[in-house]
Amino acid sequence: MGLLKHADVYWKFMGQCTQCGYCKGACSSLENNELTLGGIARAMLDAERGASTIEDLRDAILVNAPLVNAVRGCFFCTSCKNTCFAHNDVCDLIYHARVDFLNLGLIPRESYSSVLVDQEWDIFTAYRAIHGIGYSDLTRHKATETSEAASDCEIAFFPGCSLAAYGPELTREIFACLEECGAGKVTMLDSCCGSSLKSAGFFERAEALCDRNASEIDAAGAKQLVCVCPGCANDMKRALGVRGMDIQVTSLSAFLAEHGFEMKKPLPETPLVFSKSCQNRDGSYLDETRAILGVGEETPAVFKGCCGAGGAVSAFNPDRQAEQADMKLSFVPDGSTVVTMCPTCTYTYAFRQMMSPRDIQSKHYTELLFENQFDWEKVFAQLGGMWYGEYGPWLAQVFN
Ligand code: SF4
Ligand code: SF4
Repeated sequence: MGLLKHADVYWKFMGQCTQCGYCKGACSSLENNELTLGGIARAMLDAERGASTIEDLRDAILVNAPLVNAVRGCFFCTSCKNTCFAHNDVCDLIYHARVDFLNLGLIPRESYSSVLVDQEWDIFTAYRAIHGIGYSDLTRHKATETSEAASDCEIAFFPGCSLAAYGPELTREIFACLEECGAGKVTMLDSCCGSSLKSAGFFERAEALCDRNASEIDAAGAKQLVCVCPGCANDMKRALGVRGMDIQVTSLSAFLAEHGFEMKKPLPETPLVFSKSCQNRDGSYLDETRAILGVGEETPAVFKGCCGAGGAVSAFNPDRQAEQADMKLSFVPDGSTVVTMCPTCTYTYAFRQMMSPRDIQSKHYTELLFENQFDWEKVFAQLGGMWYGEYGPWLAQVFN
């Protein structure tokens, strides 16, 4: 093996890229750095060609600022892929480039230490522990002091890490609703799908985490996995498919529709604008959510790339994340409510609203369906306060 672990990926990409440049026009990062995707692959290989040691290779990449910016500034939104006649897989290219960056020590630990979601402590589990948020009473497939592990569950509910951490009342309300719908015993899988691991360059660890989730679903005996977020659904579908497990992965919206759900309150009176998620490029999740909310295609949806949270870009270039969120929200008319599919998009917009207020509301679709809401003011105050209170030294040590 050469100095780059994934040289084969770059060679393959080069072979499929005509250097037509269309991808560059679809992405501000590629445009600003004057690189195509094929150019990224070539730059990685050029750096290796001139290097005889790991140190040489690291230096060759480090001095190539456009290459570093393009690799670390990628949201994995796939906007570029949609302009590429060859449908060259940007995620495959950049994920592998990040693995090589990580191996070469080009991604500093402080940029990912709080999102190692396959370890005991990450920002979500720390937040939950400090603020007393837990679901062991709903995690039926794991034994507790008072109950045996259940292996006769029908449904596993996967809220995703943002919802489980920052919206505990909402999470519990959704879980109760799933239980009441009469589809069988429900268990909670309050783990992560591992997307933050992939963003940091821990591709194999992300796959292993999904595999661990699949084992839990298997142990629970569940036949159906209900996901709130399209990104979790995609990752878990892949992991279950690889294991040959016959588990139906369903969006929460589709599941509720199938079981005669009635909304817990009327829709807001403000006009709605859907924010389409990067992870839902075929629009199926959006359509199912429109249907359960009882609105049609006349309710607009904006894509325009990522919300800004994808690809851990904020840990590399927070301004790029902020600009992206602002750009996406700029398509939402004043006085409207922007409705997100992915709770991390909801978080990102809420954070942007806090930093730069605008006359719009931001809601996750579950907030329109159910009574409980995110309280972002409280969440951000608690997230910030954690670092200064009695847990500050512990957090600094864990996430050093
Ligand atoms: S659009 Fe596709 S073929 Fe064209 S430069 Fe980009 S990756 Fe290469
Ligand atoms: S996936 Fe999105 S951010 Fe990444 S290179 Fe393509 S358009 Fe740019």
